[in-house]
Amino acid sequence: MTPWEYRQEVAALLPALPVESLPLARCRGLVLAEDVVAGVSLPPFDNSAMDGYAVRSSDVAGAPLALPVADDIPAGRVDVRPLAPGTVQRIMTGAPMPAGADAVVQVELTDGGTDTVLIEAAVAARTHVRFVGEDVTAGTVVLRAGTVLHPPQLGLAAAVGIAALPVRRPPRVLILSTGSELVAAGEPLPPGHIYESNSVLLAAAVEEIGGEATVLRFVPDDVSEFRAAITEHAASADLLVTSGGVSAGAYEVVKDALTGHGVEFVRVAIQPGGPQGRGVFDGLPVVTFPGNPVSAALSFELFLRPALLSALGHTVVDRPRVRATATAAMTSPPNRVQYRRGRHDAGTVEVVPVGGPGSHLLAAFAASNCLIEIPDGVSEVRAGDEVDLILLD
Ligand code: AMP
Ligand code: MG
Repeated sequence: MTPWEYRQEVAALLPALPVESLPLARCRGLVLAEDVVAGVSLPPFDNSAMDGYAVRSSDVAGAPLALPVADDIPAGRVDVRPLAPGTVQRIMTGAPMPAGADAVVQVELTDGGTDTVLIEAAVAARTHVRFVGEDVTAGTVVLRAGTVLHPPQLGLAAAVGIAALPVRRPPRVLILSTGSELVAAGEPLPPGHIYESNSVLLAAAVEEIGGEATVLRFVPDDVSEFRAAITEHAASADLLVTSGGVSAGAYEVVKDALTGHGVEFVRVAIQPGGPQGRGVFDGLPVVTFPGNPVSAALSFELFLRPALLSALGHTVVDRPRVRATATAAMTSPPNRVQYRRGRHDAGTVEVVPVGGPGSHLLAAFAASNCLIEIPDGVSEVRAGDEVDLILLD
């Protein structure tokens, strides 16, 4: 099966997530599900853009001149009196303009007086005034369905008085690592064991795109312990992601537990990350990744990330791709798409391969910022050849 075919199969497991209204603080990175109409204008009223003096521009045309300061208007004041001709009112940034005033003289162009003020320069009408509705008109759409909610969009929602937004809710993803050799970071490392890293990496990857990851206690290569770990949490999840136990050896716990129970195991023509499984176990969509850390990471990147983004309502689910010149030769198995890890600096035309093809080379992956895609049918890339990159950050 090609990686593109497999990617479609994983996507088919995950329907669009339901729409929920979530408080703004939980919406970052999520996709807006409905148009948002502003209930207020922005600015909501004419106000000063500067600390200074609200004036009639015609009164200060002959500046320099002194005028009486009739009142003081801090931001938030609600009982602002009209501006009597031949007077000014001291005004702060964001405070409402008094009726009759048509401009603000910034404090730097005055002597700062509080009883009378020396206005040093004339100003044109409208100077330093922010007018009602300049930015947003009440009743209009300010955010369109499909918009990804980054900080500016969330700020705008709050600015028009909206505390919660309709979004496709985060997918709840269970992550279960398998392997009798695994030990949690922070614990002593007995001989023959390794520190478990896939669940940490995968949970972070899920959360980075707006998912909610629950890391289950990893289990040894034991079918009944594996099944027990899942059933406890299955009802409250949208997806289970497992790592390890899916290749061709013995003690392949995930394969043993799920074969014939709704999950099908296949070989995808990819390196690393060939052995894969997907299906629905007991009503719960499942994807099973191989255990080598780079294989698990690439499985997420190539198959699950686009599927989750799509279920979240994103229309752009692919990372940016560019072409670059390889600085070193690489070999690749001829019948598979190989993903090498590399570094590519924006603005340059080169990519430097980092580490070899091995799927255990996690430090090399962590030192990379792109994947080098060597297509099916290509067994050799020479230094100086052009290659396709997937940019990871
Ligand atoms: P498996 O897919 O279970 O055959 O594992 C392949 C390789 O990945 C083995 O060397 C495992 O020790 C290693 N491995 C499996 N699961 C993890 C994990 N969760 N964290 C780190 N390494 C793992
Ligand atoms: Mg294993």
